[in-house]
Amino acid sequence: MPGKFLRVKCEKCKNEQVVFEKPAGDIRCLKCGEILAEPTGGKGNFRCKILGAVK
Ligand SMILES: [Zn+2]
Repeated sequence: MPGKFLRVKCEKCKNEQVVFEKPAGDIRCLKCGEILAEPTGGKGNFRCKILGAVK
């Protein structure tokens, strides 16, 4: 099953961005560089606030 895209919010700088829920590598905030999610092989380990799925 293909993964979804999620809208997330960086806890540090409040930047919002859209990320894949099953990342292949670390996802970093585009603004401050904070790690938002880490790969686990399946759904990413999200360290930030997930606002919802993107349709
Ligand atoms: Zn940030």
